[in-house]
Amino acid sequence: MNLRIPGPTPCPPQVLEAMAKQMINHRGPEFGEIVRDVTANLRAFFQTRNDLLILTASGSGGMEAAIVNTLSPGDKVLAVSIGVFGERFARIAGIYGADVTRLNFEWGKPADPDEVRRALEAEPRYKAVLVTHNETSTGVTNDLPAIAKVVKEHGKLLLVDGISSVGSIEIKTDDWGCDVVVSGSQKGWMVPPGLVFVTMSEQAWRAEAEAKMPRFYLDVAAAKRYLEKDQTPFTPAVSLFYALQVALRMMDEEGRDNVFDRHAKIAQHTREGVKALGLQLFADERFASNTITAVRVPEGVDGKQLTKVLREDKGVVVSGGQQSLEGKIFRIGHLGYVTEADIDNVMAALAEVLPRLGFRSSVGIAAKS
Ligand SMILES: *Cc1c(COP(=O)(O)O)cnc(C)c1O
Repeated sequence: MNLRIPGPTPCPPQVLEAMAKQMINHRGPEFGEIVRDVTANLRAFFQTRNDLLILTASGSGGMEAAIVNTLSPGDKVLAVSIGVFGERFARIAGIYGADVTRLNFEWGKPADPDEVRRALEAEPRYKAVLVTHNETSTGVTNDLPAIAKVVKEHGKLLLVDGISSVGSIEIKTDDWGCDVVVSGSQKGWMVPPGLVFVTMSEQAWRAEAEAKMPRFYLDVAAAKRYLEKDQTPFTPAVSLFYALQVALRMMDEEGRDNVFDRHAKIAQHTREGVKALGLQLFADERFASNTITAVRVPEGVDGKQLTKVLREDKGVVVSGGQQSLEGKIFRIGHLGYVTEADIDNVMAALAEVLPRLGFRSSVGIAAKS
């Protein structure tokens, strides 16, 4: 099975083996050693000296932690959204009582930093800006450094969903001024779902001290108090910590920049492969993601049928489109434990399956004539 969705992603055998180990005391010295090791390695990938907390939750739990630990009901929040996950961030803030203004951009396009600037100039009372680094639903990576620059020029708190980017696409948490950055274990980290990583800048901690939104399980102040003892407030997913330690060791051996370069090369290879088949990319190519490629379902082809036949006949599992993009796009994940050969396998499957489903490639026709 070639699992090519944007998470959960395949895990290396060493990572899976690590999870078969016996339980240990999560308040004992062995676990403490693991916590210290993985926290240090994660901070290197986030390029941060800020505190980094590991919570047992899926990515959305980390998004919720970013909101409830820094904001109060009634706070004005600017939610920059370019797709499904941007909208999710806005929804969480709204559910907890923030006064959310949405700045939505056309799906497939990135956010325009100048429009973010205009929004911040028009309403000085915003407390925070929410932004998705890599929008998994459309395959677009925002120009985060440019957006962060604008947000920090206005002194606002910047909360970043980096769930499908950090560890695969470079992020300079401190240099860019990201106050809270969230990532999840099942994306580029080659670990099963269940852990989420949350960084907190000094400005974020100052906001935390005043934030009135209710929080218990996702309380990062409690997580920080326990981290000082190399522990977590509640029983953590111990097996996932074993897995994470091994995965981070592999990433460290490969080298941080090499990991990013591999993702960039494989993404480029994927886009070229898609175009060579005569298919169209969904995302604005200048901002196309290095972790996920969204492809338009060609005219006359049933998108649901395409993903079904790829899975059943070829063992290739890709994602469909979400919400309004259902049936209109399909998405190929290339993050974490992935090689060019995995992508070649997807392209070969597409080349065989698409004509059966009624696709006539103009590329093929041009080549024949
Ligand atoms: C996967 C993903 C999420 C949601 O994570 P869950 O682990 O499913 O809760 C949020 N944001 C982005 C950008 C993602 O890719």
